Formats: sequence, structure tokens, C-alpha cells
Amino acid sequence: MDSNDVSADLAHVLYTKEQIQDKIAELAVQIDRDYEGRDILVVGVLKGAVMVMADLARALHSHVNMDWMAVSSYGSGTTSSGVVRILKDLDTDLMGKHVLIVEDIIDSGLTLSWLKSNLISRGPASVEICTLLRKPEAAKVEIDVKYVGFDCPNEFVVGYGLDFSEKYRNLDFIGTLAPHVYQ
Ligand code: 5GP
Ligand code: MG
Ligand code: MG
Repeated sequence: MDSNDVSADLAHVLYTKEQIQDKIAELAVQIDRDYEGRDILVVGVLKGAVMVMADLARALHSHVNMDWMAVSSYGSGTTSSGVVRILKDLDTDLMGKHVLIVEDIIDSGLTLSWLKSNLISRGPASVEICTLLRKPEAAKVEIDVKYVGFDCPNEFVVGYGLDFSEKYRNLDFIGTLAPHVYQ
């Protein structure tokens, strides 16, 4: 390992590559079963959901269309404000479609609850949510998340799409940062 190896910045591995891949395969089986005979429009929330989208889409056997949205939920602070701005909207008309929103992580849930009602207002046949990780805070908001990979500890995690200052998204596992990185 050279001194520029990103894994040197990690404190703990929370979910290994294998655990993530197994979980995604499990979620895909469930989703295929639930959507049997119907096409799914999977909507990935950029940039964090890129890895989950790529792996989940490949694990599904249903007919899948993929589209992307980019939203910004944070003001200047580090906590979610619930004020969401669309940075990149969908290219797809949602009328009559079965929409599955794919997320990396739900923390406060504010971003997703805004996004879900925004998409519902566009006339889809259904809107469900799939997230790889869910933090304990998310349980406090009134948001129905049908597919959850892992209920994770209330720590700041990186890897597999999740960043700290745009870094660590490319890790194939999920972990916590070593204190020297952010101190
Ligand atoms: P929420 O509105 O649910 O609080 O915000 C969710 C978004 O905050 C996620 O899509 C993600 O971009 C970011 N986020 C929340 N918790 C974490 C975390 O532990 N690590 C990273 N890297 N991003 C997080
Ligand atoms: Mg996200
Ligand atoms: Mg981020």
C-alpha cells in the first residue's frame, strides 16, 4: 500500500464489498418479485446512488429504464434543511410509470420525503424507495421506505458512492473515516 492509498484514511470497515453485493442481490430478488410483469423506472439520486444503481440495475431481471436526478438539500451547514433544489431533473415523463427511487443513504429523510412528493405530483402509477443505508434519524420522519439494505450506525460513512469532500466514492466497501482525515 503506498501513502496515497485511500483505504489508509478509513477507520473501520462497516460493510465489505461482499456484504454489499449480497445485500443488493437480496433486494433485487424482492424487487423483481414485487414488480412482476411490470417495467420499472429506476431513478438514481446523483451522485451518491451511482454505485447502488449500477449494481442493483444489473441484479434485476425486470425490464428497467434508468434515469437520474441531482438535488441539493443542504444550505451552508452540514445538516439537512429540507429545502431542496433540483440541479438536474429527469428526462423521463413519469405519467403511468412505476418509479423506484434509488438512494445511497437516508439520514434525516428530508431530501427523500420532498423528492417522493415531487415525483408523485407528476402522475406516476407508483413511487417506492430503495436505499442501501438508513440511519437511525430516518425512523423519526414519516417516510415509507420499502427497500432498505442496512440499518447503519449514526456515524459519518464513506465509500460505495458516499463521499467526504467528493472523495472516497470509488471505494467498493463502506466504512468510517479515520479522525486524521477530518481533524
Ligand atoms: P437527508 O436529507 O436524508 O438528511 O440527507 C441524505 C443525504 O445526505 C445523502 O443522500 C447523502 O448525500 C448525505 N449523507 C447523509 N449521511 C451521510 C453519511 O454518513 N455519509 C455521507 N458521505 N453522506 C451522508
Ligand atoms: Mg444520496
Ligand atoms: Mg455528499
